[in-house]
Amino acid sequence: MPAPLTTLPRLVAAGLTDASEVAALAPVVAEFRVLVPPALASVIGAPDDPVGRQVLPSVNEAVIRPEELADPIGDRAHEPVPGLTHRYPDRAILHLTQTCAVYCRFCFRRETVGDAGTLSDTALDAIFAHLAATPAIREVILTGGDPMVLSARRLGAVIDRLAALGTLDAIRIHTRVPVVAPERITAAMIRALKGPVTVWLVVHTNHVQELGAEARAALGRLVDAGVPLLSQTVLLRGVNDRAEVLEALFRALYRLRVKPYYLHHCDLARGAGHFRTSIAAGQAIMADLRGRLTGAALPTYVLDIPGGHGKVPIAPGYLEPGPGGWLVTDPQGRTHTYTDPA
Ligand code: SF4
Repeated sequence: MPAPLTTLPRLVAAGLTDASEVAALAPVVAEFRVLVPPALASVIGAPDDPVGRQVLPSVNEAVIRPEELADPIGDRAHEPVPGLTHRYPDRAILHLTQTCAVYCRFCFRRETVGDAGTLSDTALDAIFAHLAATPAIREVILTGGDPMVLSARRLGAVIDRLAALGTLDAIRIHTRVPVVAPERITAAMIRALKGPVTVWLVVHTNHVQELGAEARAALGRLVDAGVPLLSQTVLLRGVNDRAEVLEALFRALYRLRVKPYYLHHCDLARGAGHFRTSIAAGQAIMADLRGRLTGAALPTYVLDIPGGHGKVPIAPGYLEPGPGGWLVTDPQGRTHTYTDPA
């Protein structure tokens, strides 16, 4: 397997970055690191195609807008112990590693990913002490970074230790690995995910072009082994901000036995403004998708309120108060009345 592409000279050598852009891109790469894994590089057809735009550095990233934030979703505002975000009563996020298999140019954690490496045993002990003392936490979400860059042995040990708490309904892992580095979905990795507590995988994918043959096979291995799969997608201008593009992705995921779960409005990460659509544009896309796709293949369109105030659905409204009850809008835009029981 070739090495990942991590420098401008290597991107130029691979034909993914134009040599004339290197000087302008150097400050961008110095601030926001680059890593394109081989499996993903193999599905990039051109630097400005929907996959290239997500992972290749751009001079647009040098534009920092006043509303952009270093910690857009407020992870650090809810950190009872380093490495654990506890925002909602029944859930906590464990940032097991800050390393990823790819560095996305729109990432809401782009200020931290790649920096701190993996949590030390001492930091992990402090997190487990907090979890043991807080039985109201019923689900731990492993994210990062990407927890699936860890070895199967290390990830399995954390899953087993979480299961041993005896208080969790489930563990959730948010990951890009099955799509961008599918060779990591080995038999040992799948065994690690099949612990005594159910592990849900939430696979991050933004365009059907990412789902090459290897990625599809990796998703198939996981589902065949009984690992439940959801997906999350970020709405990205110039990548997937058209209903027919998202329809193709969600149909492919549905066929692959992956339930589309979240469509995230793009967060206020620094230097990612060129990816952001308006919320009204996202709502129009969701309204269009409602008329095209089965509800089982439709994700919930969500906004992480900047500053750490939580995630809320921001789908278009279909219901408003009307004469004697409600006015309901159908997927074709026609309105109807509905009356509650007296
Ligand atoms: S894989 Fe996830 S955490 Fe890592 S850079 Fe991409 S969006 Fe950010």
